[in-house]
Amino acid sequence: MLTLRSVVSALRRRYGKPPPPVSRDPFHLILWEQVGYLVPDIQRRRAFAALRAQVGLHPGAVLAAPRAKLEAITRLGGPIAVRIRASRLRDSAELVLGRWDGELRAAVRLPLYSLLRRHGQELCRRTAPACGLCPLRIPCPSSSYQDVAPDKRLKLAHVD
Ligand code: SF4
Repeated sequence: MLTLRSVVSALRRRYGKPPPPVSRDPFHLILWEQVGYLVPDIQRRRAFAALRAQVGLHPGAVLAAPRAKLEAITRLGGPIAVRIRASRLRDSAELVLGRWDGELRAAVRLPLYSLLRRHGQELCRRTAPACGLCPLRIPCPSSSYQDVAPDKRLKLAHVD
């Protein structure tokens, strides 16, 4: 059965212990993901630093920021979907304020975030996921890996 623990175990076996995230605050990690798109981490880090310095990272600060300022910052994080990403920053802030009173720490497991992020960069890529190499290929409902008999698949997957 697919459990959170089995997913973390399978990804840890594949990628090792993840490096520390840019922040231990889950809302910051959402901002980190949304502030850049399809850019190297060094460029994403510049946009994130600008958001921190010019707006702040609290949901209330993001929600109160002028739209033009958010767009200028998301532009630093790459030219694709600048306006959409700025809107997502505001939408996320609004959601976290409305549903979790601005505090997400209890709702997210950081090791899983780091492992999933790496997984998305290495194997589960948006346009061409490498399902045949994926440690989650047996339980994953989106897997395109269908070349091995079911009894052998479980052995190959090494999923707890
Ligand atoms: S099996 Fe394929 S779609 Fe599923 S998580 Fe792995 S790489 Fe992604």
